Order: sequence, then structure tokens, then C-alpha cells
Amino acid sequence: MSAPQTREQWQALADQLTPRNQCLIEGQWVAAASGRTFDCISPIDGRVITQVADGGSEDIDRAVASARAAFEDGRWSRRAPVERKKIVQRWASLIEANAVELALLESLDMGKPVGDALGVDVKGTVRCISWTAEAVDKVYGEVAPTGAKELGLITREPLGVIGAIVPWNFPMLMASWKLAPALATGNSIVLKPSEKSPLSALKLGELALEAGIPPGVFNIVTGFGPSAGEPLALHMDVDGLVFTGSTGVGRHLLQCAGRSNLKRTYLECGGKSPNIVFADAPDLRRAAVAAAGAIFFNQGEVCTAASRLLVQRSIQEEFVAEVVKAGKRMQPQHPFEPRAAMGAMVDQGQMERVLGFIATGQSQGAQLALGGRRALAETGGYYIEPTIFDQVQPEHTIACEEIFGPVLSVIEFEDEAEAVRIANASQYGLAAGLWTADISKAHRVARDLRAGSVWVNYWDGGDMTAPFGGYKQSGNGRDKSLHAFDKYTEMKATWIHLG
Ligand code: NAD
Repeated sequence: MSAPQTREQWQALADQLTPRNQCLIEGQWVAAASGRTFDCISPIDGRVITQVADGGSEDIDRAVASARAAFEDGRWSRRAPVERKKIVQRWASLIEANAVELALLESLDMGKPVGDALGVDVKGTVRCISWTAEAVDKVYGEVAPTGAKELGLITREPLGVIGAIVPWNFPMLMASWKLAPALATGNSIVLKPSEKSPLSALKLGELALEAGIPPGVFNIVTGFGPSAGEPLALHMDVDGLVFTGSTGVGRHLLQCAGRSNLKRTYLECGGKSPNIVFADAPDLRRAAVAAAGAIFFNQGEVCTAASRLLVQRSIQEEFVAEVVKAGKRMQPQHPFEPRAAMGAMVDQGQMERVLGFIATGQSQGAQLALGGRRALAETGGYYIEPTIFDQVQPEHTIACEEIFGPVLSVIEFEDEAEAVRIANASQYGLAAGLWTADISKAHRVARDLRAGSVWVNYWDGGDMTAPFGGYKQSGNGRDKSLHAFDKYTEMKATWIHLG
């Protein structure tokens, strides 16, 4: 299906949509054992899209049992990598063929511009799944450098049953970063999507079955964190837990692993990324436009959002004026507007939380240079203006806490050493950027920044070819690239005596 070109055409498609709303267990679509459902609300206009199964511990038990049985009987885990590869690639092709519906579900459910859902989320999901599938039959084991009388084989085996808990900001993309390497390496999986955006995951499940991933290998339990996520994290028969979400919940999940079976636990958590602009940046206007995009893209609901803009004092005034100009052009619109730069916040709670941070910024003395208010309230949806605070001090709340909304804090610095010190003075270490024409300074600063991804003279580079993850309390382990396989496999040393 070709993509609609107008808001009206997207709306007409949305009006015909009947999204799946049940759990996927053992290849069957089932209601929650309790029979309970919850309202899935669109932040575009506050209307209910559908009622989704409110899964709980009984559903998690059934899903884990199904994943375990599938793993043990080898219907997937013992297939040759080349066979799994073909099926996972078919899944990627089906996702591509259903791109319009998936983009629509994502936009409707979490409020992002449908153009971004199509061009970033669906495209990234297809790329992640197909790249990972393609790689899986090209990874070799090792032979240990032993003496003549023995042979040491170093092999990787699937972990077993994986629990995956994912957030709402890039629902299908974040899920795909877990699902692709888990499934390609032969694991079975139980996915718990966010209660705020469960719909695209259910469509991914439907397409996985259609592609030939056997029933029981990929299960989905919809529901809330404490009632569905926690039983998964505490389950004694889950071998690995992979999570993307907030640092607070990540910390709790490590405790769950410790209280249960020490399941391998990998976290991709929050960020408060610094974007450092030196006076000798090669193109200050381009840097200013990029700085605005780096915070306002996806309504600022991005783990790597450049929420701290560090600007060298000598260019502060003129640079901030350029960023404000660029930010003004990114006002929120109905997400079905094909060229919308920003859509709606994911829900009313998130909108209120962000407005609360804006009030705190003002009360602590930061200077509001742009926005700061709710927008488009007449639609019934949850929109916020692009917001820029100037004269922010590093210790201000808005400079320290992850807001996860369209709020930029501009902080001045004098020299390189001060920039690095401010940038690193954070509990987070997910990403960072720097702008300079001086190649030695670029390398020095990039090396000194404590972050999993560093961008020089642009923001948000990345691809499946490179790992992604955080330093410090932004998490552990890496998604994407061949390094992602480490999280989903155990390493075995087999010794054979040749005497
Ligand atoms: P969240 O931590 O509130 O929720 C994430 C998931 O955890 C959801 O599925 C939720 O239902 C579940 N959950 C909540 N409480 C739980 C509990 N007690 N036990 C088990 N599961 C529980 O995060 P969010 O609001 O959905 O997402 C925003 C956060 O995600 C931000 O902090 C953002 O930085 C982070 N994030 C990180 C990355 C990354 O790659 N590092 C990517 C995207 C988002």
C-alpha cells in the first residue's frame, strides 16, 4: 500500500483500523486470564482507540511456559542459523509490506508524526531485523590455542527464555532491537510492551506468525509494569531480561533479578545528553538547526535527546537566537499532517509532568526564551510548545533530570575543560555531541566524554553497524551490531581429550 499524502487520507485509514488487542501466547490470540482490559487512548485527541488485554502474572506464567516448551523441543532453537535467518528475513519483508499500517498504529497510539513513524520507526525496524537476520549465519565460534593433546571449542548457545520489557517512545523500534537478536540466535521470547503504546507490538507478533516463526517462540503479554512486567522480571524460568526504559525501573529490575534467579539483566535506560558547541564550530547556523532538531524530534521523547545545550560564552547570544529561530519552526501539529515536526506527548500524565518541569525551571530562575505552554488544547490531545530555557545553571533541576519532553536547557561555558566537566557531571552517560573545526580538540573532547555514543559536528548518527548503549546509569550491555548477540547467548568452553 502506498503511503497517504494528506492528513485526510491518513485519517480515513485510521477510521477503518481495527487493531489487535489481545495477548499472543503459544501462537493464539487470547484475552487476559482475569478477563480485564484497559483503555488504549490516543494522545492525538484523547479518544479511546481500543480496549487492550490487561495481562497479569497468570498470563506471564502461561507465556513463559509456552516459550520454555518451544525452546526445549528445539522447534526454533535447534534450527540451523541459515533457516532461522530466512524466516526472520521474511518477517522483515512483511513488516515492510505493512509499513503504512504500522506507522499509523504508532502515530495513533503514541502521538508521533506519522511521517517520522514511517521514515524512522518502521524503516529502522525493518533494517534492524533484516540486518540481524543476515548476520546470524556469519558468526563463528573459536578454537582455543591448546597443546596437541586436547581440543578446546568456544561456542555460543542461545540463552533460553528471554523476557523483554520495552518503552513507548519508539515502541516497535525498541522492541525490534531486542526481538531481532533474541530470535535470530534461537531464543524464545516473552515481550511486554508499554501499556501506553502496545498496538504496534501486537501487529509485529501477527506478522511473525505469518512469516513462519513457530507458535510459542514469540509471545506477547500486554499490561502494566507492576502487574505484568514485574512477574516477568521475577520469573524463575526466565533466563535473560532485556529492558529499555527509565533508570528508576531499570534499577528495580536488577533487584528483581537478584531476588529471583539471577537472570542475565541488560538495561538501556535514561539520558541527559550534552551537546557542546564551541565558538570555532564549522557552521554555526547548521549547528543551531541541528541543536533544535536534537531536542524537539519525537517531542523530546528520545533517550538520546540533546536536552543540555552547552554553548561557549563568546557566541552565546547569537547562537541561542539561531536555536530559538529554528525551534519556533517546529511547533506541534496534528501527527497526521505529513510535514509535522512535532506531534502529541504520549499521554496526559507525561504532558503534565513536562509542564511541571517547565514551572520548576522558571521558579529556579532560568530564563524562558521560547514556548513553555500547552498547545492545541482544543483538540483534546496533549501537545506542548517547543521550549527553550537560557541562562540555566548546571545544578538547576531542568539541567539534571531527564524531562523526556521538548524542553532545552542552555548552559554557558568558558573553555574546553569547563565544557567537559559540565557535560560529564551527570548520572547519565548515553550520548553526547560536540561541534568544532579543530580536529585535535574534537578527538580530545570525544575521548573525555563519558558516553556510549559521541557525535562530532552532527547529532544522532548511527546504524545497525555500530553498538548502542550507555555508560553510568544509562545502562549496561549494547543493542545493535554483532555486539548485541552477546546478550542473548551463553559462551561455552568444550574440552576434548585427544590422548
Ligand atoms: P518506564 O521505565 O516507565 O517503562 C518502561 C517499561 O517498563 C514499560 O513497559 C513499563 O510498563 C515497564 N515497567 C514499569 N514499571 C515496572 C515494574 N515495576 N516492573 C517491570 N516493568 C515495569 O519508561 P518509559 O516511560 O516507558 O520510557 C521512557 C524511558 O525510557 C526514558 O527514561 C528513556 O530515556 C528510556 N529509553 C531509553 C532508551 C535507551 O536505549 N537507552 C531508549 C528509549 C527510551
